[in-house]
Amino acid sequence: MGGNRDRLSRVVLKKDIKRRVLNGHPWIYDNEIERIEGDLEDGSLVDVFTFAGQFIGRGYINRLSKITIRLLTRKPEEIDTNFWKRRVIEALKNRYQLVKENAFRVLFGEADGVPGLIVDKFSDYLVLQVNTLGIYKRLESILPALLETLNPSGVFVIMEGSSIQKEGLEEQKYWIYGSGPELIPYEVNGIKFLADLKGQKTGAFLDQRENAKMLSQFAHGRVCLDCFSYTGNFGMHLLKHGAKHVTFVDYSERALAVAREVAKLNGFTNCDFVVANAFDFLKKLYGESKLFDLIVLDPPSFAKSAANRESAYKGYKEINYRSMKLLRNDGILATSSCTQVISQQEFENILVDAGTDARVVMRILHRGGQPLDHPQIYNILETMYLKFLILQISHL
Ligand code: SAH
Repeated sequence: MGGNRDRLSRVVLKKDIKRRVLNGHPWIYDNEIERIEGDLEDGSLVDVFTFAGQFIGRGYINRLSKITIRLLTRKPEEIDTNFWKRRVIEALKNRYQLVKENAFRVLFGEADGVPGLIVDKFSDYLVLQVNTLGIYKRLESILPALLETLNPSGVFVIMEGSSIQKEGLEEQKYWIYGSGPELIPYEVNGIKFLADLKGQKTGAFLDQRENAKMLSQFAHGRVCLDCFSYTGNFGMHLLKHGAKHVTFVDYSERALAVAREVAKLNGFTNCDFVVANAFDFLKKLYGESKLFDLIVLDPPSFAKSAANRESAYKGYKEINYRSMKLLRNDGILATSSCTQVISQQEFENILVDAGTDARVVMRILHRGGQPLDHPQIYNILETMYLKFLILQISHL
């Protein structure tokens, strides 16, 4: 044992630190640090203290990042394979019955006490999103913890996106353990899917699984449009539950090629796939007076920071307004927002605004959100991002 507490550099915070840190939030920004004692390498572990000398926690540091320290624990415990194992076991416990599913998110970064690391399980394979230098440097001790607890056939690492450059890392994707197919078959709600390792994020978005299941009950006999479909999660659920037809729209050709494969795997033929910018496509349909019984909107985040709120607001209003206009009377609109800086209330205000302009009455059929494997922690607001509503739209 020995404990590595004595060997770690100490970081002392400024006098007037934010309650946020004391209340369980794991991030320490560069301007909250009074001094760093001793020499250290970025990516290494540090112990963090208040100005008065009270121990706050242990985490990893990267002076290249505005979020300079991410705390891994509030205890002076060793950050070794056993630590990561305890984190995985705790996360599995917090997922309750979800762990019986064929695919789920095993670790969701800050929300599971593992800042910078996301782990998804697709049948026998694990896909890791490594977002920070501190996690990258610890992969050697993290990997055995995952192998021992989950026994996968292969583990794939994805390092990409703007955060990777901010951390001073190179973008890369590779099998760190074993190997597997580029398209990993998995199942959700009795439907076959493919996680595309060359695709976006970790190959599939597991956060909409319950929302898609809830939407399934409105599928029967309906002509549907799945906008921002990616590999087809929502639309496949609709087809499985008796939709008359589904049009999948995404501007990524690759995403729709995979969606085609997924439809084939499930034997769905009453569907078509349109590579298009959804904004333009919705506008075009309106010009053609084409109507639908059900429309799904699941766009990417429209704003990474509060500074882009305004344009996000405009974007949401436009696609929701156009979709309302494209629905038959009493049609169904399933609409989502994964923009973290837009709150539930703000998103609903946008919908009300769009509905007023479109001259419709909106009945809330369902308010959804994040499933158990995308935990939401009040003390870490950044963990709460997904809004989902199913609305019945009636024209005035
Ligand atoms: N609904 C999917 C996830 C959608 S992710 C699911 O449940 O799994 C968002 C998708 O929107 C991505 O596939 C991306 O390629 C696509 N996209 C982003 N901007 C777009 C645009 N302007 N028009 C069409 N598709 C877009």
